[in-house]
Amino acid sequence: MSNAILERVRSRLHPVQGLFRDGRFVARASCASCGAHEEWTSLKMPEPDVVKKKLEDRGWTLKRRPTCPSCQPQKEVPVTASPTAVPAAAPSPDTRAALRLLGSVLDKEAYDHANNRYKPGFTDASLAKDTGLSEKVVSSERERLCGPAGEPEMVTTTRVMFVQMLGDLASMRSELVACVGGFNKMASKHGFEKIELSEG
Ligand SMILES: [Zn+2]
Repeated sequence: MSNAILERVRSRLHPVQGLFRDGRFVARASCASCGAHEEWTSLKMPEPDVVKKKLEDRGWTLKRRPTCPSCQPQKEVPVTASPTAVPAAAPSPDTRAALRLLGSVLDKEAYDHANNRYKPGFTDASLAKDTGLSEKVVSSERERLCGPAGEPEMVTTTRVMFVQMLGDLASMRSELVACVGGFNKMASKHGFEKIELSEG
């Protein structure tokens, strides 16, 4: 067997050692933690990947530091803790900046402090979009810093629209009443029937 082939096999076996003993090929893993060895002997030159797979099946880790089965780090047991047992993670610098922005926008632009509600055009959702925070976070911060959200913008918009229409209707009515008054004056002069106007 040429040295070139042997070198290639050895480099692919790394960190498992490849050596010959008594005419056999021996793949030898040494634990970097406790020094334990495990060998895999073959009459033929083995496929390095097959040798590694066999050792890994026996519990070895063959990374930069080969580790025997008894020295494997304990697998972390997933903790099924209740939500209250999990401490809230400290906010990241980005989140802190977003929270400061939210506080400032709420105070100076978005919140109607006199009436304890959002000014028209602002909602938890719109501020979440503006600050990049979640709507849930915006909602709890707004409650904490300012107060209730008040009515939804849709309600305000609809009210404003109806009040406007009522105003238009009232002015149309007064114009109509003036016209009817003119008609009645003419009718009265000629003895025609007049139009009775109800109150309001
Ligand atoms: Zn070990």
